[in-house]
Amino acid sequence: EAKAAGRNTYRTFHPDVGARTATRGQLGLDMREAIRRGEFRLVYQPVVDAGTGGVVSLEALMRWHHPLQGEIAPGDFIPLAEETGLIVPLGSWALHEACREALRWPPHVRVAVNVSGVQIRRDGFEVAVLAALAGSGLPPSRLKLEVTESVLMQDADCVLACLRRLRALGVQVVLDDFGTGYSSLSYLRRFPFDKIKIDRAFIRDIADPDAAAIVRAVVGIGERLGMGIVAEGVETAEQLDLVRREGCTQVQGFLFSRPLPPDEARAYILAAQARAVPRGAGLA
Ligand code: C2E
Ligand code: MG
Ligand code: MG
Ligand code: MG
Repeated sequence: EAKAAGRNTYRTFHPDVGARTATRGQLGLDMREAIRRGEFRLVYQPVVDAGTGGVVSLEALMRWHHPLQGEIAPGDFIPLAEETGLIVPLGSWALHEACREALRWPPHVRVAVNVSGVQIRRDGFEVAVLAALAGSGLPPSRLKLEVTESVLMQDADCVLACLRRLRALGVQVVLDDFGTGYSSLSYLRRFPFDKIKIDRAFIRDIADPDAAAIVRAVVGIGERLGMGIVAEGVETAEQLDLVRREGCTQVQGFLFSRPLPPDEARAYILAAQARAVPRGAGLA
């Protein structure tokens, strides 16, 4: 009986695993072609000045419109792209595309591009960034790179040197998802980030006094180190009120806008500019 059950388990289990592996493998193969076929798109989510309500930058977020599977979220294909190394051409494509798009925006608005650890540790990353800037004509000061601290954990010296050189050209470097992972404060001493993005888990729980205390402490550290604090994942007016009260200088989240296709993103910037209040007057 046990043997039969075992065999039965094996029979029903095995094809399933095989299918999943094939799908994952197929997805990896599809990805090679997908760049060329133009199946990847960038959508742009506004980052808003907590004081004026004006758009200061937009974060480029990748989307894959797969011909058979429909839209695949970055959480599902970025890790695969990292495993296969395809994140390198894909990341270069995103840099080019985002820089090109940002040229259509008012000149004070920056574009933020997420950079994966695999991508940044490869030789040629710096060249790819410079090529995207030179190829588009976007001034370096209008580009932000978003990295997570995991990027700094391995091979950190080389990565830091590269980021320092880019930063010396005016490219901003943002520490993304702060508060998740190890969040070692030593990273904040090792690299002069322009901004720290507090992970949305803290913003979701900001009504909890403990979460609010942590946000306030990070804001304090940021102020002392000359790093602005961005709150990501602001979904409600109450959360906005609380993160502003704790001193976050910039905010991003569904309350303001979901990530938008290029034309809608541009329209959003122009509309926000028209209704933004003067600095210091506070966000209505
Ligand atoms: P991330 O860089 O932390 O981006 C923020 C994520 O939070 C985005 O998810 C965004 O859509 C989502 N988000 C923004 N506001 C809210 C909100 O108010 N509520 C909720 N629930 N979510 C919000 P998305 O687009 O699915 O991207 C997920 C992650 O995938 C990104 O996290 C980033 O780590 C990675 N990713 C996206 N595009 C790229 C890319 O071009 N290159 C690389 N290397 N990674 C990327
Ligand atoms: Mg990001
Ligand atoms: Mg983030
Ligand atoms: Mg994230």
